[in-house]
Amino acid sequence: MREILQVKTRKKTEFLDITREIRDLLAGEGIKEGVMVLYTRHTTTGLTINENEEGLVADMEHILEKLVPPADYRHDRVDNNADSHLRSLILGQHLVIPFSNNILDLGSWQRIFFVELDGPRTRNIIVKAIRD
Ligand code: ZN
Repeated sequence: MREILQVKTRKKTEFLDITREIRDLLAGEGIKEGVMVLYTRHTTTGLTINENEEGLVADMEHILEKLVPPADYRHDRVDNNADSHLRSLILGQHLVIPFSNNILDLGSWQRIFFVELDGPRTRNIIVKAIRD
């Protein structure tokens, strides 16, 4: 199974909880055991797993901006978004999540986030379920 999940972001830096969409895609597949692979083809986005608590989400957005502050980056001379590319280095472009009995093996507080780093934009996430 290979699906493309399209999302629309609303801010420059935004953590978007896509857990429900990924669960729905998996449920529709009827595969019992395996892994879900999520992959973003964009160079100014990321994927991560963390808790979806409003204050923490604001903290995560803030810390990325603080870790990579705007500066005189060379890439800004050709495309004014070097900070967005550099922030994506911290997050990475893929996730692998095991599932069992057609249910994702997420901890109680774990949620899947797509991270926009140069929004707002429309983005595509490739989702594959691989059977054991
Ligand atoms: Zn760029």
